[in-house]
Amino acid sequence: MSHVVVVGASVGGVTCVQSLRELGFDGDITLLDAEYGPPYQRPPLSKEVLLGGDADDADLLDESALEAIGVEFRPGTPAIGLDVAGRRVRLAHGDLRFDELVLATGGAAAVPAPLTNLIGRGAHVLRTRTDAIALAAALGPDSGLAVLGGGVLGSEIASAAVSRGVPTTLLARPAQTLGPLRGALARPLLPLHRSRGVDVQTDRTRISHGAGRWRIDAGAARLVADVLVVAVGVRAAARWLARSLPVGPDGVRCDWRGRVAPGVWAVGDIADRAGSRHDVSYNTQAAAVVQAREVAGAIAGDPLRVPVVPYFWSDLHGVRVQAAGRIPPDARIEPLDRDDTGAPHVFAVVDDDGTVVGAAAWGSARGFRRARTMLGTALDQEAAAR
Ligand SMILES: Cc1cc2nc3c(=O)[nH]c(=O)nc-3n(C[C@H](O)[C@H](O)[C@H](O)COP(=O)(O)OP(=O)(O)OC[C@H]3O[C@@H](n4cnc5c(N)ncnc54)[C@H](O)[C@@H]3O)c2cc1C
Repeated sequence: MSHVVVVGASVGGVTCVQSLRELGFDGDITLLDAEYGPPYQRPPLSKEVLLGGDADDADLLDESALEAIGVEFRPGTPAIGLDVAGRRVRLAHGDLRFDELVLATGGAAAVPAPLTNLIGRGAHVLRTRTDAIALAAALGPDSGLAVLGGGVLGSEIASAAVSRGVPTTLLARPAQTLGPLRGALARPLLPLHRSRGVDVQTDRTRISHGAGRWRIDAGAARLVADVLVVAVGVRAAARWLARSLPVGPDGVRCDWRGRVAPGVWAVGDIADRAGSRHDVSYNTQAAAVVQAREVAGAIAGDPLRVPVVPYFWSDLHGVRVQAAGRIPPDARIEPLDRDDTGAPHVFAVVDDDGTVVGAAAWGSARGFRRARTMLGTALDQEAAAR
């Protein structure tokens, strides 16, 4: 009987094993994860959990639900190596043979070298449930917070912290991007933070640590913080694969179906589909789900034929930010609607041919729905202005 091994039991890995069963795959399935406890998802960690919510609410499912569909779940079991030709995953206590392997080990927080030794000793990152519980406990109205990195994660942390009354400084870039949003699409970000009481600094930063506090020099500003969070990006959790597969900074190279090598697939944040038909790198929950379904379909012999539109969302200060489709760096950005202050907040992304290839909106569910319906059509200036 065929044996599928899935390494990594978060949204990518769990969706893959569930989809395999839904598609009628009746071989053996083993799901490994380095962490202990039931599989969980990450979006609530920087939102509900930082706001004081129950960290268990991030659970994706109960371990018994995996047992019920005949999946052998092995938490606390990191994969430490891979023999591609011999079709074996190396574990601490022996090898595990597979017919098909799905890599779903996602990412880990990237930390600049000078700060590496201080993580857990005054500085925080936010990737795992344990990280979120530790950070939520460190936040309080009497302890100033500095967040290094103004992207999606740093912005969500700053948003949660100020809403808890924590004095918060965000160390961002002057032209800060937000996930796939850059340029005009990301312009509402820093004004939104400032309007909600976040101290945003965009000058070059020097950080030092002493007597339990952080000193931050940001241009002319001299700041002190009790808690520092490093949110400068994600690196693929692929070190265990470095001797076996081509691994780059964005993960393991695979084709548009997620195929890495014969019998080896990748989904989610670890999958580098550069040059694939999606030609946009959305490291999001939605992308991990879609890729996991695609790979499960390919393994079960029932490939998905539905065209997939990449989708991104974030919640900042009660404002939902959404994007869909492709956002090429050189695309034209057309504002479709303005907010109460007159600033554009619904956008169409238009390619050279005048075709709408992407849509984005800040705090306008209706505007986003409308912009999204334009994907694949020629931009109609009159309709857009209505
Ligand atoms: C705090 C936070 C908030 C986010 N919010 C949003 C959001 O609002 N919207 C959105 O779309 N996306 C959000 N994201 C991104 C989203 O969570 C990721 O894109 C998604 O989790 C990727 O899923 P994945 O299954 O590929 O990898 P991961 O979720 O990273 O899971 C990988 C799993 O593999 C395990 N693993 C790692 N190495 C090994 C190994 N060697 N052996 C065995 N197991 C291993 C890990 O323990 C982990 O359980 C957020 C991310 C974070 C960190």
